Amino acid sequence: MSALENTLRNRMADVEARIQKACDRAGRVRSEVTLVAVTKTVSADVARALAGLGVVHLGENRPQELWKKAAELPDDVRWHLIGHLQRNKIERTLPLVHLIHSVDSVRLLASLEEAAAGRSTPLPFLLEVNASREANKGGFAPEALPGILSQLNSLQNLQLQGLMTMAAFEEDAERCRPTFRELREVRDRLRGELAPVHTLQHLSMGMSNDFPVAIEEGATLVRIGTALFDGMAKDHSAT
Ligand SMILES: *Cc1c(COP(=O)(O)O)cnc(C)c1O
Repeated sequence: MSALENTLRNRMADVEARIQKACDRAGRVRSEVTLVAVTKTVSADVARALAGLGVVHLGENRPQELWKKAAELPDDVRWHLIGHLQRNKIERTLPLVHLIHSVDSVRLLASLEEAAAGRSTPLPFLLEVNASREANKGGFAPEALPGILSQLNSLQNLQLQGLMTMAAFEEDAERCRPTFRELREVRDRLRGELAPVHTLQHLSMGMSNDFPVAIEEGATLVRIGTALFDGMAKDHSAT
């Protein structure tokens, strides 16, 4: 086993143990939480080594980087787009992605609806919500969601599977809890307002710094980069 594989294996074991403990504290089963390994800071070689350890869900925040890694990694990887999608990159991105977490405007929603026409199943997506209300963050303000209900209900080609948020960075992750709780409450309020096609089962929340708290508050997708890849520069080769 290479030194890289060994390090990744140890980091995975640590993250996995922390996910399991958070599930235990919350009375949840491990299978309710999917680890999305965020590979944006590492090379395709490192991402491939992690996939080789059985991590199927990988996330990228830039469409071009996702295209590049998707071309280099095995087809069974499920790619998650977790950052801004420019409308001119939709066409090339859609065939590659398992789930888009970061739908952050009505304009993007309309463009995706158009691009997804003719699919045999609706395109799954999450709305990005700025639950921490930081001025430098994208996404819909929680207060803005009631205003787009009619747009959501008129979608023919898309399926809203839930919400995504990023908490503010806090030394004490406990302070992120209100943000995660709010995302869950916003999701719960959307249920009942939306057509049944919009399943709303996912809460994409929790990063390296705060994922145990997010799991306690109901996260179904945790997006973890640093805890797995810290110190592995992008030019790191898997030798
Ligand atoms: C980079 C990134 C992550 C992973 O963050 P870490 O703190 O490195 O775990 C999660 N979500 C989004 C949207 C990101 O851009």
